Amino acid sequence: TVREQVKMVKAKRFVVQKHFQGEPKTTDLKLVQEDIPPLHNGEYLVEAEYLSVDPYMRPYVQRYPEGITMIGSQVAKIIESRNPEYPVGKRIVGYLGWRTHTVVNPQISSSSDDTFAFEKPYILPDIGDLSPSLFLGVLGMPGNTAYFGFLEICQPKQGETLVISGAAGAVGSHVGQIAKNVCGLTVIGIAGSDEKCKWLVDELGFDHAINYKKGDIATSLRVAAPKGVDCYFDNVGGDISSVVLYQMKPFGRVSVCGSISSYNADASSLPKTAIIQPTMVFNQLKMEGFIVHRWMSRMSEGVEKNLQWIKEGKLRYRETVTNGFENMFDAFVGMLNGKNIGKAIVKV
Ligand code: NDP
Repeated sequence: TVREQVKMVKAKRFVVQKHFQGEPKTTDLKLVQEDIPPLHNGEYLVEAEYLSVDPYMRPYVQRYPEGITMIGSQVAKIIESRNPEYPVGKRIVGYLGWRTHTVVNPQISSSSDDTFAFEKPYILPDIGDLSPSLFLGVLGMPGNTAYFGFLEICQPKQGETLVISGAAGAVGSHVGQIAKNVCGLTVIGIAGSDEKCKWLVDELGFDHAINYKKGDIATSLRVAAPKGVDCYFDNVGGDISSVVLYQMKPFGRVSVCGSISSYNADASSLPKTAIIQPTMVFNQLKMEGFIVHRWMSRMSEGVEKNLQWIKEGKLRYRETVTNGFENMFDAFVGMLNGKNIGKAIVKV
């Protein structure tokens, strides 16, 4: 029986031993192995296939006590079920944490007592030959972040100029393509290597890409956008953003999506902003932060649009895949350090 097979398997999960300080260290997390408990009525058991490593995990996990399972979402297959709505063989996506096996009780929004859940796990819709891992990226939370965070906050108009920082990552590469291929903007990406810049221009059709680790960003940006910048989609904050904000046009719009340049900073001292008020005032800029869950009720709209654009050839994606659940930590730190192009995921 399934249960006899399950009994032979040990579930693995990463526990937060110690809150991160500065760059995460391997000793901050601990890999533990456990037996899989029997299912109660209404529950089902899933086995992870793909897990996501995302920037938010770095600051967000600090909100929870040490000892929790490391947070994150995964695509998983139902391998045992005592709930007819969740049959064996179907796949779900859910915020189940860094674990190989999870008993899910759909009545409880969180699948376990110690893992934060943004939303209930849901059964994946059919996307034909496309990989289910896309529900962690272009058809998942990052895809919706790009869709809503750009269109709703920047309110782009055809012919305008957009700058994106963190441009070669999951969200940034996606925003640039919506702007270019759907809205008709001039798109400038800022990213951390020549290889990334080449990909943005040659494969994704960005008009310009600037390697922020080489040369002077302000000078390169003035060349790429001689008339100034209408919209800025900010993934990184810090010095890069100061440069962009001071090259904005009057009535420019800034969508503040993230600030990864500060995620490893010491959280005990109050972060300092650069003096951005002069450009905000004299250019009458509008700057708005957002969390993608604001548009939770419209989630399927974002997924459907992104899927449509993939099928129409307007939206390309790339995944940087790390193999092996044991390598979750390396994939996570690698992503924070810019090793990924497109979405960073782990294949179990
Ligand atoms: P990415 O795929 O973009 O991966 C992170 C990238 O950040 C790295 O590849 C690296 O690329 C870049 N980076 C790391 N450190 C720095 C630094 N000091 N300065 C500049 N760039 C740096 O991740 P996502 O696409 O998943 O996320 C992008 C941003 O969007 C993050 O800030 C994240 O927190 C935010 N986000 C916000 C959401 C919301 O609801 N507001 C939802 C989802 C994501 P490089 O080589 O270019 O340095």
